[in-house]
Amino acid sequence: MDNAERVRIRAIVKAEFTKHRFDYFAESVPNSNRPIVVPGCSLCRVRLQTVPQFVDHLCEKVEAAFEREFAGSTVNPAYPFPVALHNISTAPPS
Ligand SMILES: [Zn+2]
Repeated sequence: MDNAERVRIRAIVKAEFTKHRFDYFAESVPNSNRPIVVPGCSLCRVRLQTVPQFVDHLCEKVEAAFEREFAGSTVNPAYPFPVALHNISTAPPS
């Protein structure tokens, strides 16, 4: 991997890590005029309850960004990682 690829990968990871937030957002409730506030990624409006779930969400988004960015490229999108990002366990060590 040359320096340009390294810079490109770093930019992709940084962009995804700074776009998504573990935050709260309002979600409408069926048959109700009053939304409820739920935890999760406010950008994607995905409910998430824990930090490990948010880390999994970030990994999925980074991996999807790699696939988009490197589609048709000779660079292996999973290159800097020995395993696919979605296979990394965020469960606490036992
Ligand atoms: Zn998100």
